[in-house]
Amino acid sequence: MCGIIGYVGEENAVPIIIDGLKKLEYRGYDSAGIAVFGEGGFFDVVKQKGRLPALEARLADAPIEGNMAIGHTRWATHGEPSDINSHPHVGSENKIAVVHNGIIENYKEIKERLEQRGISFVSQTDSEVIAQLAEYYLQKYSGDDLTDTVIRVASVLEGSFALAVMSASEPDTLVAIRKDNPLIIGASGHGMFIASDVPAVLRHTNRVYYLGEKEIAVLKKDSVQFFGMDKAPLKKKLETVSWSLDSAEKGGYEHFMLKEIMEQPAILRETIRSASGSNKDILDSLDIARFDKIVITACGSAYNAGVVARYVFERLCRISVEVELASEFRYKDAIVDEKTLVILISQSGETADTIAAMREAKSKGAFTLAIVNVVGSTVSKEADVCLFTAAGPEIAVATTKAFSAQLVVIYMLTVRFAAQLGQISEEAELFAEIASLPDKAAEILAHTDAIAKYASVCVGCKSIFFIGRNIDYAIALEGSLKLKEISYIHSEAYAGGELKHGTISLIEDNTLVVALASCERLYGKIMSNVEQVVSRGAKVLLIGSCVGGDFARDGEPDDATAPDKGVTPDGKIAVIGLPKIHELFSPSLSAIVLQLFSYYVAANRGLDIDKPRNLAKSVTVE
Ligand code: GLU
Repeated sequence: MCGIIGYVGEENAVPIIIDGLKKLEYRGYDSAGIAVFGEGGFFDVVKQKGRLPALEARLADAPIEGNMAIGHTRWATHGEPSDINSHPHVGSENKIAVVHNGIIENYKEIKERLEQRGISFVSQTDSEVIAQLAEYYLQKYSGDDLTDTVIRVASVLEGSFALAVMSASEPDTLVAIRKDNPLIIGASGHGMFIASDVPAVLRHTNRVYYLGEKEIAVLKKDSVQFFGMDKAPLKKKLETVSWSLDSAEKGGYEHFMLKEIMEQPAILRETIRSASGSNKDILDSLDIARFDKIVITACGSAYNAGVVARYVFERLCRISVEVELASEFRYKDAIVDEKTLVILISQSGETADTIAAMREAKSKGAFTLAIVNVVGSTVSKEADVCLFTAAGPEIAVATTKAFSAQLVVIYMLTVRFAAQLGQISEEAELFAEIASLPDKAAEILAHTDAIAKYASVCVGCKSIFFIGRNIDYAIALEGSLKLKEISYIHSEAYAGGELKHGTISLIEDNTLVVALASCERLYGKIMSNVEQVVSRGAKVLLIGSCVGGDFARDGEPDDATAPDKGVTPDGKIAVIGLPKIHELFSPSLSAIVLQLFSYYVAANRGLDIDKPRNLAKSVTVE
């Protein structure tokens, strides 16, 4: 959500900023802009509503250049997406330029106070107060440098912010500060960077500092210094990231989403390997016996991974598990204490609601375990312990590979806990099943034709229902979310047994129902649900390892049947069989088929798959 990049160095900052913004597009945005400290001694600002090519066209018509600049992709929270509301914002005197990610909760009071002093505002954003207040302070406290000014401003602001700030009186200095929103500092051979995320700087460097809460970075072209809010210098570690530039590029695929789906066998393998590598110490150190309850809290797909986790934990560990949306957990005065293990799941580690839920859980004494993809992120740093998913940078807004990696970490954690609790004797067998996932995922990905073919006939559907029972229900939730996110087709997931309590009234001729059937014990039950919807006119796509159909069955969807399981060949049921796997780990295989299904439906509809409307990747606002 929103991308920030800043550069001060030896090169022309403009192409560097634009390239960096492109790498941050995945975060979701509605407008973009750049401010360069230009030759006239003031800021040249070009900004407008819309995507980056529009900004590039403006810059091609009227080029600007300079060695220091800040850029922004905005995801509007206060004020409509418009040219004037786009960032960067400058003060009335054009002495300060700012880009902001987050929400300034007390912006109205600040604005009123400044207006009373004769300062007029041009935008409807909360962010403009930062530029105006900084300019006001700079004038009022004439002995201050930009760092002092930023500290003064930050101590007045309430809410969340990641800021990159330039002052016309210090044309060689870029200042950054963050609270509740991410920022990293990149150090390259030709200059220094501020960015919301690592992919923005990977073309130039893989050496970064992770800025902590209310830490200030002061960048010059060949140095960076860090300070606390009291201006006391801080020592920070320069870290080397292992992500490659390739991992942040499409590599020949039409969309990042498809590339990321295809990467899953390698990512599953890497994440499994982490159990004996980077995650080993943490897995070994955890003592599940000290907890009497597990609460999992997360948002979006990570929440759905949490629902899968509940079924797996409860079945294998026989411990009570609650799953809560982080946005609900944070305000419900949750019943957690020292005997509660709170598990937070987040790809970015910067999801505002998840961060707040984590802090709430910690304040009540709970032990927090995070499952996070981005090293150095807020959740990964603040949680008591963190298990990392080895998904690499995920660029498409709709998560695929990071979700799959989260599932694998959950399985490994659960099997380890179950063994510790003495609830299972087959730890090695279960690990072997988990270890078979990458090859089985590769098998699915080698045969995508049947899924693509089926998806092509679903393009016109107005609504699609996903049903499953138990662990299949958990993954139905994710299938439905993925479809909505990228295809804009209405969709709902239902527990198969719940259909008759309401949703079945929505089934009519040719309604599409996707039924998940990998849960051996409940196969008969889900097939009864399938019969119920077929007899009311629905068409069913049956996916699972119990369905008996060959994987990637070739043929018209309406012809496909699973006769050995008793599905009558009435032309209403298409089957996509999955490789056999322990049912608790089957969500990993179903997820891949569901991701591909959504992808192909959206591709057939010609939609902007990597950047679906209104959505942002890393939801850093409430
Ligand atoms: N709240 C600011 C705005 O609406 C910043 C939004 C963002 O993080 O992109 O302009």
